[in-house]
Amino acid sequence: ITSAPAFRLGNRFARELPELALAWTGEVAPEPRLLVLNEPLAAELGLDPQWLRSAEGLELLVGTKAPEGATPVAQVYAGHQFGGYSPRLGDGRALLLGELTDAEGKVRDLHLKGSGRTPFARAGDGLAVVGPMLREYIVSEAMQALGIPTTRSLAVVATGRRVQRETVLPGAVLARVAASHLRVGSFQYARATEDVELLRRLADHAISRHHPEAKQADRPYLALFEAVAAAQAALVARWMLVGFVHGVMNTDNMTISGETIDYGPCAFLDAYDPAAVYSSIDHGGRYAYLNQPAIAEWNLARLAEALLPLIDDDQDKAVELAVETLRGFAGRYESAWLSGMQAKLGLAGGSEVRELSGDLLELLGAKQVDYTAFFRSLIGAARGDAEPTRRLFPELVDGDDWLARWKAREPRAELMEGVNPAYIPRNHLVEEALAAATGGDLDPLTRLLEAVTSPYEERAGLERYAVGAPPEFGSYQTFCGT
Ligand code: AMP
Ligand code: MG
Ligand code: MG
Repeated sequence: ITSAPAFRLGNRFARELPELALAWTGEVAPEPRLLVLNEPLAAELGLDPQWLRSAEGLELLVGTKAPEGATPVAQVYAGHQFGGYSPRLGDGRALLLGELTDAEGKVRDLHLKGSGRTPFARAGDGLAVVGPMLREYIVSEAMQALGIPTTRSLAVVATGRRVQRETVLPGAVLARVAASHLRVGSFQYARATEDVELLRRLADHAISRHHPEAKQADRPYLALFEAVAAAQAALVARWMLVGFVHGVMNTDNMTISGETIDYGPCAFLDAYDPAAVYSSIDHGGRYAYLNQPAIAEWNLARLAEALLPLIDDDQDKAVELAVETLRGFAGRYESAWLSGMQAKLGLAGGSEVRELSGDLLELLGAKQVDYTAFFRSLIGAARGDAEPTRRLFPELVDGDDWLARWKAREPRAELMEGVNPAYIPRNHLVEEALAAATGGDLDPLTRLLEAVTSPYEERAGLERYAVGAPPEFGSYQTFCGT
């Protein structure tokens, strides 16, 4: 036994909600090797990067050894997956190591994905492979840099294990940090136990950690629901504004904190396409780009159902209150989206944004113009050079009418600069980086991370990170649970 690390991992979730926590440990990694470590995040969490790189640090990062006083657990939850209810999901290949208090005093979960089978693994092998774990690392850190609430990635450790997928692939564990891992599905599970006191304890835990103002409300649990709905409305508006398709908005993948979670089959739009679906299993397009706000609302209805026993003793009254609150979602979403779009267009006044943006999106869709490149180029157009914008269209004149209408509104470039990113994790660049990393070359990953973690700061030499996929990349498909 070597020296203890200089940090504490709390076990608040495990103590307060033992019915939702199963003490468990990670599987031994035959040959752990650190692939990527997020040093700024480690510093924020008070973790010593040098210690994390040590043999003992790697044991923490694969889940085989936790500090004194910690109780690593697999969390149980339920969830609607593609609309169908599963009463018992839970961490099949993940562990909550415990809670850390960061430099700002905020409590955050330290969690592992790919750490071995748990009793919730069902048919799964409990493992994860290098490519998808690095994918989550890249995309979550890009989202963070874009200013979008998200779980963070602390490290990816290759385990040295060979994992059977379509081919044999190198295994890996992702260390993830989140405000918490409470999901809509956690509430669905607690509700289904019919233990109202468990449900109340879970709601109190969520209020205390994420929405403390709800505690002062006349109806704290209705206020919790309203706070989650507001956080999700704001979050999904941010996804839509940046062209993000989550891909698997099951209720077990929707957080109570309002952070984006579970970067399985997600992708970013290149050419604007409201019907975009990337996930290989989303045959009906349930989680298509434009469906995301409606799906978020559907998921929130499931949360409301789970909370009903806490909202009012009179269940008819509880339904009435919950429905009224849920009705506020669409308006909140709409106003978050419109104010975001107003900033993307660099406009001061609001009234014309709805019409201008509606016409614009129709145009971008019809002409298959790259969404991110278009908005970035608009900054230059606001300054007087519209040629780069015009060149994004099949014919130079295609956007001229719209550009003239927009220009007449006197857009201001300085409103747009921190809003319209130059660099997002382009699907083809992510795939390129993952393929290289799986083969042992981490350079493309490092360069991509450099680009996407400063997305608003355009730099010479990074031109290829600012454009969509070449035609030969073809249509993109992503996969869950790999
Ligand atoms: P996801 O689609 O990533 O949200 O995962 C849904 C559920 O499947 C969760 O309960 C996961 O823990 C579980 N799961 C996904 N992949 C595996 C795997 N390889 N082994 C065990 N459980 C898994
Ligand atoms: Mg999940
Ligand atoms: Mg997943």
